[in-house]
Amino acid sequence: MSIKIDNLTYIYSQNTPFEKKAIDNVSLEIEEGEFVGLIGHTGSGKSTLIQHFNGLLKPASGNVYVNNIDIHSKEKPLREIRQKVGLVFQYPEHQLFEMSVYKDVAFGPTNMGLEKEEIDKRVKEAISIVGLGEETYEKSPFELSGGQKRRVAIAGVLAMKPDVLILDEPTAGLDPRGRDEILDEISKLHEELGITVILVSHSMEDVGKYVERIIVMDEGKVRYDDIPKKVFNHIEELESMGLGVPQVTYLMQELKKKGFLVTNEVTTIQEA
Ligand code: ADP
Repeated sequence: MSIKIDNLTYIYSQNTPFEKKAIDNVSLEIEEGEFVGLIGHTGSGKSTLIQHFNGLLKPASGNVYVNNIDIHSKEKPLREIRQKVGLVFQYPEHQLFEMSVYKDVAFGPTNMGLEKEEIDKRVKEAISIVGLGEETYEKSPFELSGGQKRRVAIAGVLAMKPDVLILDEPTAGLDPRGRDEILDEISKLHEELGITVILVSHSMEDVGKYVERIIVMDEGKVRYDDIPKKVFNHIEELESMGLGVPQVTYLMQELKKKGFLVTNEVTTIQEA
């Protein structure tokens, strides 16, 4: 499933004194099966942009196409798009409310009106994909750790079998170990399920080593859109946008500036 954004502009509180242009004429395309990082400082427009991907927000101008169909053209019901483009919000655990993990994950598929057997299959699969065991089925989500709660919330979206999975700051508020675990898990599910994954983050360090493509947003615009290695070349510009590059990249570039020949990004540094 592909997503295409064409000259998209979005303005909050339009025609009021509080008017704010959050997305400024953005065009981009995400192909089926890609693993993309959407990076930008707080307030750069990331959350606003992803809410257009599944029709939660309607552009002030411009178009959104999912599989080449304009999602606001009324040809396709938005409900269907929202199941296919799954969005995991920031701090999704705040939306867990059922008595058990099983019931929480079953909520989405149940609302889709699926058969009981299908729901059961999906719930068990989703819980397993996010790395949780059967012993969690009957637990209250509130008994779980922060990282586990977040996995349950992700499982709830996966159980709807989306073609595209968008995660808004999935590591927010987790400790470094929890962060690595959840990112490893997301990366695994991209590989194993082959679904398109869009990872939203304000941290290059977190996301750079996992994704195949980075889209950098700043003040509602796309500044860079390339493979991580090429995006990281713009260290100074990124810093001026409040973004750092991974430490190892920074070090390599400093060495290059000092005349060292850096032959391999990770392993070999030799004097020029
Ligand atoms: P990010 O996800 O990168 O932090 P957002 O998309 O949340 O950025 O915000 C982009 C801009 O839109 C910011 O200036 C923010 O203050 C503004 N904004 C976000 N949500 C609202 C809202 N509900 N009403 C008015 N302005 C908003």
